Amino acid sequence: MEDRARSHELTPVLYTGPVMSCIFCKIVAGEIPSKAIYQDDSAYAFADIGPKAPVHVLIVPREHIASLSEAAENHRDLLGHLLWTAKEIAHQQGLTKGYRVVVNSGEDGGQTVDHLHLHLMGGRPMTWPPG
Ligand code: 5GP
Ligand code: ZN
Repeated sequence: MEDRARSHELTPVLYTGPVMSCIFCKIVAGEIPSKAIYQDDSAYAFADIGPKAPVHVLIVPREHIASLSEAAENHRDLLGHLLWTAKEIAHQQGLTKGYRVVVNSGEDGGQTVDHLHLHLMGGRPMTWPPG
């Protein structure tokens, strides 16, 4: 047997790709606990672990998309659905005085978790501009 083939045989398969190490994929899969706010076939919404407002909900696609920049043409309906879901949750949470929806994308955007997510924040007046 060639060395390369043998080393392949002996090397354990390690799932270290972006999806397998993604904390939001694990939350969607129920492997990391979260406080569910809403869910359907394509989206999952849960309470942010470090809320920056009285209501702070994260809305994520079940599918792993690393960031808004990584969204493809075939994700257009899904992107619209996520925004629609933010509106529905805001209504459900009683945010009648208003709210903010934020998508941080990439390093300069302040994104810290590389799975596309919408922040829905409300329950207090927001300031502008954000930092
Ligand atoms: P970003 O900075 O990427 O826009 O937002 C990531 C958000 O995910 C932060 O607001 C952070 O508090 C939240 N977060 C990070 N890890 C977890 C977690 O394990 N569970 C929950 N519920 N939220 C998380
Ligand atoms: Zn993911």
